[in-house]
Amino acid sequence: MRTIRDLEPIDGKRVFIRCDFNVPKDEDGNITDDRRIRGALQTIRYCIDRDCRVILASHAGRPKPNEYDEANSLRVVKTRLKTLLKMADRISLAKDVVGDDAKAKVEALKAGEVLLLENLRFEEGETKNDIEFAKRLASFADVYINDAFGVCHRAHASVEAMPKLFPKERRGAGFLLSKEINFFKKKLDRPIRPFVAVVGGSKVSGKLEALRSLIDKVDKIIIGGGMAFTFLKAQGYEIGNSLVENNLLDEARTIMIKARKMGVKFYLPVDVVISPEFSEDCAIKYVPAQEIPKGWMGLDIGPASSRLFREVLHDAQTIVWNGPMGVYEMDRFAKGSIKMSHTIADSHATTIVGGGDTADLAQKAGDVEEMTFVSTGGGASLNLIEGKELPGITALESN
Ligand code: AMP
Repeated sequence: MRTIRDLEPIDGKRVFIRCDFNVPKDEDGNITDDRRIRGALQTIRYCIDRDCRVILASHAGRPKPNEYDEANSLRVVKTRLKTLLKMADRISLAKDVVGDDAKAKVEALKAGEVLLLENLRFEEGETKNDIEFAKRLASFADVYINDAFGVCHRAHASVEAMPKLFPKERRGAGFLLSKEINFFKKKLDRPIRPFVAVVGGSKVSGKLEALRSLIDKVDKIIIGGGMAFTFLKAQGYEIGNSLVENNLLDEARTIMIKARKMGVKFYLPVDVVISPEFSEDCAIKYVPAQEIPKGWMGLDIGPASSRLFREVLHDAQTIVWNGPMGVYEMDRFAKGSIKMSHTIADSHATTIVGGGDTADLAQKAGDVEEMTFVSTGGGASLNLIEGKELPGITALESN
């Protein structure tokens, strides 16, 4: 992959860096994990050291398009960047993305200065991959750099349409992006076996294709989190008010049959933590997964599942983990996820953690240093495992 190092000299140029500053925040809007910001520093510093005028852009959250929304503003990111780069007076934030303020600030940028544009998703054109919006962004810069692995699986304007507007020798990958791609290619093309995937999170739908193709690659799959209930229901069990995707019950059955046919061990939780409400202050119970009463919902895996999954992971040589085992944001439903994090961190396997939520969780559990690799991209890393082309990478390499 052509990286920023391989481009024609960028000294003094206006460099646009697509970053992934979509960082997790607490209820007061404070950043709880700034790994994605720190991950981009190497590329940003490389440009500053070459007297570039640096334009940073990112999305954050899911704001309504064409509206300014304080909660999703990149203001906190600017503050954190100032601290991390130790250059408070040379970093500014535009009030908009491609509006008058952004234009004026781009014009005024001096060598070695950094301008952060506002949240790309404040503009409708971003998620629509709109070429006109991409052209307006492209008019700000001479060089395009993608350092946002976490969004490379999305054909959005700043990721897909925009790079193609730059000649080949003036577009490339940042250091973070190339590190992530190289790591996945190296470790997952020929993984050391047993290869185990641990998949959790809220919905089957978001990870359906990944699950289908993981079965071709792994020796065992562990399913936890909200998505487990679709599989449990597909087996005919009562799941009360737990999260479920009824339209995917057949698909869930097909996946389990395929696993069986291919000799892939497929594990679901055997017990769950249930509550009558999605709340921190309600009664909770531990029950076997086949005994969820009507009216209750499963919000975490239980202790027997944690033990079972530890046994399953015991001989693993490669582990890919994506998605929490329960509603880890609430302490009382976080145990299953924290235990999973400890189990994976303690293993002797090559451990790859993908996804913002999962990385946040590993951080909460204090396990980040013990993991082999914590990727900034969840969906993107699953797509890579599936062997899919990522639109952001294809666009960088297109002719
Ligand atoms: P995802 O973005 O699909 O990886 O899902 C992450 C989200 O799944 C987290 O915010 C969790 O709170 C949520 N989640 C995990 N387990 C459950 C569950 N049993 N019921 C509802 N939500 C869950």
